[in-house]
Amino acid sequence: MFHYHFEVPKCYFCNMSEKKGIAILGSTGSIGTQALEVISAYPAYFDLQVITAGKNAALLIEQALRFQPNSIVIGDESQYPLVKEALKNEAIHVYCGEDALCQAVESNEVHTVLTALVGYAGLKPTIHAINAGKTVALANKETLVVAGELITKLAKEKGVNIYPVDSEHSAIFQCIVGEFHNPIEKIYLTASGGPFRGFSLDQLQTVTLNQALKHPNWSMGAKITIDSASLMNKGLEVIEAKWLFGLNAEQIDVIVHPQSIVHSLVQFEDGSMKAQMGLPDMKLPIQFALTYPNRFKTEFQRFNFLDYPQLTFEAPDRTVFKNLDLAYRAMYENGTVACTLNAANEIAVDAFLNKKISFVEIAQLNENVVNACDNILTPTYENYVTADSKARYKALELIG
Ligand code: NAD
Ligand code: MG
Repeated sequence: MFHYHFEVPKCYFCNMSEKKGIAILGSTGSIGTQALEVISAYPAYFDLQVITAGKNAALLIEQALRFQPNSIVIGDESQYPLVKEALKNEAIHVYCGEDALCQAVESNEVHTVLTALVGYAGLKPTIHAINAGKTVALANKETLVVAGELITKLAKEKGVNIYPVDSEHSAIFQCIVGEFHNPIEKIYLTASGGPFRGFSLDQLQTVTLNQALKHPNWSMGAKITIDSASLMNKGLEVIEAKWLFGLNAEQIDVIVHPQSIVHSLVQFEDGSMKAQMGLPDMKLPIQFALTYPNRFKTEFQRFNFLDYPQLTFEAPDRTVFKNLDLAYRAMYENGTVACTLNAANEIAVDAFLNKKISFVEIAQLNENVVNACDNILTPTYENYVTADSKARYKALELIG
């Protein structure tokens, strides 16, 4: 587990006897496709073992033909015959369904599992990966939001490292490399503010789906794009940071930085602050999670100060963007509150994407569901499963 106070692992790539075997869960998504670019740029170092997708069989087939992994999993079982047929002449194992996803990460040839699938669906395969002793490169922040207490405990027990892929958490990680013996006083997660930065509650009432889907700086999957517009993404990220870095709520602050150049900052106990900077490009944090403690040479576009004569910072408006407040509440209350909040939000975002609710109703629904559901302290896996399904049920009931 990546805890603060952990030992630097020995370099995998120095004197390696075999390439590092990688499984990408969610290879057809925004993170997944960029991860394939990263991995294929270093064929001498990485061995693509497993790729998986939820429903996008066409792209999964295309990726399988091009990158020749050992195994693939299509989540949607109805598409299995199509995928199997398309790959019948290839030496690629084809599987389907959730159980196959969980088994695929346990393969002996897999060293690191990149969790790039979206939402609560990431939890179970991540637990399997940790139980099998695999290093986790975690993009699926929802896993730590839903069950951070259980996941971090399990990772510690199994001696498994979890390396962040989320750009803010990768930034914090990059800032504390070499500082593991020095406590963090505080971290600042930067937020672009999304397309509705500076809007009043009144202005938010009338925003459209198309406006919400236009992120100013990042091109991402639909769910995280909406979460970024509603600041739920930053809320999920403060909870993710709490578990990844072993911090409490008072040590985590959010600062809006519209240029998305400073990816986050750490403040140490002597008052010194470190920031990690660069152009917004997820390939860098993806690569760092796969190559740590090394940095591999890239041709990624370099930052030029003169293109950004001004880097600005402002406070987030937590009265307008209530999701961020709800996330802090979930951190203070602990137990299953964050799991409930995540489930409500998955339903709310889906309803917004399908034009069943308005943008402001996302945060309202989240709050109503959190208020209506019980909190179970020190939850077991089963408690999380129950909290998740109860919250989904309640959210759907409230949408009507
Ligand atoms: P995406 O929607 O583009 O891709 C999701 C992938 O997961 C696809 O391959 C899809 O087929 C698969 N998938 C979806 N539901 C599934 C299910 N139920 N079972 C199995 N597979 C399923 O999403 P994304 O933007 O790549 O985000 C992936 C994760 O990474 C999210 O948790 C997100 O918060 C996180 N993240 C993304 C970015 C980004 O730049 N996109 C940045 C930071 C963190
Ligand atoms: Mg992020």
